[in-house]
Amino acid sequence: MGYVDGLKCRECGREYPVDPIYVCEFCFGPLEVIYDYKAIKKVLKRKTIEKRDKSLWRYKELLPIDGEPQVGLKSGFTPLIKADNLAKELGVKELYVKDDTVAHPTLSFKDRVVAVALTKAKEFGFDTVACASTGNLAHSVSAQGAKAGFKRFVFIPATLEQSKIVASLVYEPNLVAVDGNYDEVNINCSEIANKYKWAFVNINIRPFYAEGSKTQGFEIIEQLGWKAPDNVVVPCASGSLLTKVWKSFKEFKEIGIIKELETKVFAAQATGCSPISVAIKNGTDVIRPVKPNTVAKSLAIGNPADGFYASQVVKETGGYGEDVSDEEIIAGIKLLARTEGIFAETAGGVTVASAKKLIEQGKIGRDDTTVICITGNGLKTQEALAGHTSQMHHISPKLDAFEEVLKKIRGK
Ligand SMILES: *Cc1c(COP(=O)(O)O)cnc(C)c1O
Ligand SMILES: [Zn+2]
Repeated sequence: MGYVDGLKCRECGREYPVDPIYVCEFCFGPLEVIYDYKAIKKVLKRKTIEKRDKSLWRYKELLPIDGEPQVGLKSGFTPLIKADNLAKELGVKELYVKDDTVAHPTLSFKDRVVAVALTKAKEFGFDTVACASTGNLAHSVSAQGAKAGFKRFVFIPATLEQSKIVASLVYEPNLVAVDGNYDEVNINCSEIANKYKWAFVNINIRPFYAEGSKTQGFEIIEQLGWKAPDNVVVPCASGSLLTKVWKSFKEFKEIGIIKELETKVFAAQATGCSPISVAIKNGTDVIRPVKPNTVAKSLAIGNPADGFYASQVVKETGGYGEDVSDEEIIAGIKLLARTEGIFAETAGGVTVASAKKLIEQGKIGRDDTTVICITGNGLKTQEALAGHTSQMHHISPKLDAFEEVLKKIRGK
């Protein structure tokens, strides 16, 4: 029942059958899933989608599976929040938050990619799944792999936030903390993936895994009332999510779900790890790898696999790239919490603060419809806020102790 035609090299166009492979044998270009859009156009209409269960699988014809979904059956379809309070603060007319802080089951957008990757791993017949992670992927593979009955090997940089380590360990995966940054973990994992017959979700399963990110884009269009926004701001680690949000918009146009598409795509990064936004600002196609140093650990990929393609999407759509300091990230987290009641992790702070800059620069129009992608929950990176929140009032259990405090609060 699947609609996948095969895999295709993004560089030389050579085609491959559907296998757990990710790189072209001839030119080492990355492989991408290609679909039979003519056939999909006949079966996938707005009405068909609207009748289905509210999960990412409502777009299953545009996902790279052959049979029925097997993992993450309730993942996706997170709220799109009209952010009027934040819009007012930033001085724009229409602003929306795509809120993956409440993603099921592990509170980040990685639940989307893992649902698709693990379903595909089942179809391929793997019994063990693995990943190299900046944190949220470790959390999601640990959880969804437990539910799906996989053996799990999860590799993380040893310096990861304690809360993300505990959040992964509770599902009892084999958690391996590597002395090194994400890029070193990733190289280490590529060697391991060559040797062991495991489904490494972001290595040999990467072409299928990455397709899961498209569901964030499909949902944005559906939840806006079947139209694409003028602007979308996407945080970048490897750059994959950004390229796939754009692919999803183009696919909806291709199969006739939307008629018009003029969205500008904007990349958001932390200044302490900004190879993609720097390349965009410098107007170069060369992504210069960096050594990450930022509180936004989930985005700390110094040598981004899809960085080049992300920068091309930004260029092609007339968007831009921006990056923000650790202080701005913290301020961004607090701004979103104060105005919209949404507690985002550091990556969300990056997105809010970058959007603010882009609006101030006039790169994002004040009369436009803009969507910002908030990709992970703040409960997972509470360390980042230590010493940056307001203080609580500590009292003895007496009425007059409270009234003393109340007097102070009400302004002395
Ligand atoms: C992984 C991640 C991203 C972006 O990932 P890409 O590698 O660019 O696809 C964004 N936000 C959060 C919270 C993440 O965990
Ligand atoms: Zn090739």
